[in-house]
Amino acid sequence: MRILVVEDDPILGDGLSRSLENSSYAVDWARDGTKADQLLSQTDYDAIILDLGLPKLDGLEVLRRLRQRNARTPVIILTARDDVEDRVAGLDLGADDYLAKPFNLTELEARLRALIRRSHDGAKGMMEFGKLRYDMNGQRVYIADEPVDLSAREIGVFQILALRAGRVVSKEQLLDHLCSYGEEVFPNAVEVYVHRLRKKLESGQVTIRTIRGLGYLLEKPHER
Ligand code: CA
Repeated sequence: MRILVVEDDPILGDGLSRSLENSSYAVDWARDGTKADQLLSQTDYDAIILDLGLPKLDGLEVLRRLRQRNARTPVIILTARDDVEDRVAGLDLGADDYLAKPFNLTELEARLRALIRRSHDGAKGMMEFGKLRYDMNGQRVYIADEPVDLSAREIGVFQILALRAGRVVSKEQLLDHLCSYGEEVFPNAVEVYVHRLRKKLESGQVTIRTIRGLGYLLEKPHER
């Protein structure tokens, strides 16, 4: 999952980025509105945390431009405690949620997970594929109730495929959602992650198909 943090306050921006990285998100941090607008026109993020008071281009304008490009990326706006007007303006422009500063990081992450789930056809916090259970909130995969030992990257790849189960995901898309800006990952690394995932998830009766020239597809579980 790749998140854009837009925050000009260095301490808050740094704290937010670190705490999200610790929760295995790939994070890009824009310190002003122009940079945010530029990144948003290039990259398909899974969610955006957007402060409204920003240098160069204010947060509401960043949001307006994003929605004008028809991007449906979930957005949480950060507002001052008493700023009802900004909150209303943000929600009217297409923000999905808001938090007033100062906020609790645990709450922010819970709201972020909820928004990301909702943006994928209301996927539940717990998903089942064959004998496999994926707990999106705890970032764990279980086969027959036993936790599977997966690296952060492997979990990352699985999550991207699981949220898009039944649809083809290209290697480029996988890399885009997996890595932050400037992070070096070779395209072939995706093949390695998928290979390892297949091996580790074999006993869960989960199929990750390779669609030649297009990418990968995690088969949807059969309806019971
Ligand atoms: Ca600010």
